[in-house]
Amino acid sequence: MDCPFCKIPMRQGYFQCGMALWSEKKHALTLNPGQGEAYALSLGKTMFSPHQLESWFCPRCRKILLDASGYASNIRPE
Ligand SMILES: [Zn+2]
Repeated sequence: MDCPFCKIPMRQGYFQCGMALWSEKKHALTLNPGQGEAYALSLGKTMFSPHQLESWFCPRCRKILLDASGYASNIRPE
């Protein structure tokens, strides 16, 4: 995949993490989405191995793209 910003080839790998949340709001204390809060990705605690999301890294602009298509989201295309 080419970087959508730089147009150079990105490196494929895995974004490996524990709890994570992609939301339009900053959270100071918790990584759980609030009641009715829109979220694109909400990863809970793991018992053993970390979450492993397919991902691409641009070595020039250092942006990382994540494929969250296998995870729950409550945001739909407009
Ligand atoms: Zn780039």
